Amino acid sequence: MATFKDFRNKVKPNWCPGCGDFSVQAAIQRAAANVGVEPDNLAVVSGIGCSGRISGYINSYGLHGIHGRALPIAQGVKMANKDLTVIASGGDGDGFAIGMGHTIHAIRRNIDVTYIVMDNQIYGLTKGQTSPRSDVGFKTKSTPNGSVESALNVMEMALTAGATFVAQSFSTDLKELTTLIEKGINHKGFSLINVFSPCVTFNKVNTYDWFKKNLTKLTDVPDYHEENRMQAMQTLMEHNGLVTGLIYQNKQQPSYQEMLTGYSEKPLAHENLHLDEEQFNKM
Ligand code: SF4
Ligand code: MG
Repeated sequence: MATFKDFRNKVKPNWCPGCGDFSVQAAIQRAAANVGVEPDNLAVVSGIGCSGRISGYINSYGLHGIHGRALPIAQGVKMANKDLTVIASGGDGDGFAIGMGHTIHAIRRNIDVTYIVMDNQIYGLTKGQTSPRSDVGFKTKSTPNGSVESALNVMEMALTAGATFVAQSFSTDLKELTTLIEKGINHKGFSLINVFSPCVTFNKVNTYDWFKKNLTKLTDVPDYHEENRMQAMQTLMEHNGLVTGLIYQNKQQPSYQEMLTGYSEKPLAHENLHLDEEQFNKM
C-alpha cells in the first residue's frame, strides 16, 4: 500500500517560500495515501496560476490544463476512466473568475471529482491583481484606490448551486485539511474544498495572522450538523464565510455516474485496451 512518500516526485516546487500551496500539496499526498489510492490510480488536473503547478509536483497522473478549464478536463478524465480517483485543483482566479461557469455546472452535475481550490484572494502568478475573492477596499496594482467590487462568497454559492459536498480549510491546518480531502475523495459525487492558502508575496492583508484571528472552526460552533443545508447557509452568513471544516454533505443524492444509464456496466479503461475494431466502434 502506498504511503505519502510514494506521491512525492523529484520536481522541486518553485512557489515562494511560505506560500500556502506547499501545505495543500502535502495534504493531498497524505490524504491519497490514507484513503488507499495508489499513484497510478490518481489523476491530478490543474488550471493556470501559481497553484496550477501542483499537478507537476505530485507523483501521479497529472495534467496542467488551460486557464479556468481544470474542471472540464477532470470530469472528462473521470468519465473516460471510472477506475481513477480524480482531483481537480487551481486557484480562486482560475476557478471563480474565468472558470466559474464550469464550477457551477460541475457542482450541479455531481460527477465524482474532488475540486481543491487554493484561495489566496489575489492573482499571484500575474504579480498581484484583485480576484473575485478579494475584499472591498483591497488595494492592488489593478485597484490602487481599493477594490469597489464585493468578494464572492463561494461556499454560499456552492450551496445554492446544489453542491453535495462543501468544505473549507486553512493551509496551516494540515490535519483538518487532510481529513477533509479524504472525505472529499470518499464522497460519491462532486466535492468542493476551498482552502485559504495565503500568498505571502502579493497579499499583505489576508496573511496567516489575519486568518488565525478571523477564522472559526465549525467544530467550535455549538450543535452544528453538516447535513443541515439551512444551518450551513446561516452559519456562513453569520461568519461572513470565514469558517473551516465540513460545511455541508448530502450523502443521499446519487452521483452523475450512478444516475447515468449504462455507466456502471461500462468496462474499466484498462479493460478497453484489447478491444477489436468492432467492439471499439460500438462504444
Ligand atoms: Fe504563492 Fe503568491 Fe508566490 Fe504565487 S506569488 S507562489 S501564490 S506566494
Ligand atoms: Mg489566487
